[in-house]
Amino acid sequence: MTGQAYDSNNIFGKILRGEIPCHRIYEDADTLAFMDVMPQSPGHLLVIPKAPSRNILDADPAVLAKLIPVVQKLARAAKEAFEADGITVIQFNEPASGQTVYHLHFHVIPRYEGLALKPHSGQMEDNGVLAANAEKIIGVLGN
Ligand code: 5GP
Repeated sequence: MTGQAYDSNNIFGKILRGEIPCHRIYEDADTLAFMDVMPQSPGHLLVIPKAPSRNILDADPAVLAKLIPVVQKLARAAKEAFEADGITVIQFNEPASGQTVYHLHFHVIPRYEGLALKPHSGQMEDNGVLAANAEKIIGVLGN
């Protein structure tokens, strides 16, 4: 295997086990999507597999095959919900790349013409704002 082993004692592992809360947007047998608590743009969300892997380097291709259609579904929903001009999908692998949480995740970030992203892992967003933003995306998914 490439890189270090998966350690289940990470924040997203805790979210998956229900040990810490999240603003959930979407869940199926293999996948969970929820709001990023330090959004780089309103509507910034994360899509994670339930199967353990540290990042894309050690992920099972079969897990990725189920994950990417959900990333697409959430990218489309976030674009509509936030009337974005575009969507940035980011995925970091190992500290040198900027990874800070060691459970595989894809960032889905609404983008607007001429508007720069806020810093990665910058400022905590208000809980009420995150809840309202999750509801916006859930509303689109429900349509
Ligand atoms: P990365 O590992 O790709 O660098 O980023 C981890 C992301 O997780 C960051 O964007 C950060 O804001 C987000 N994050 C860190 N801790 C938590 C948390 O407890 N809950 C949620 N929902 N997001 C988190």
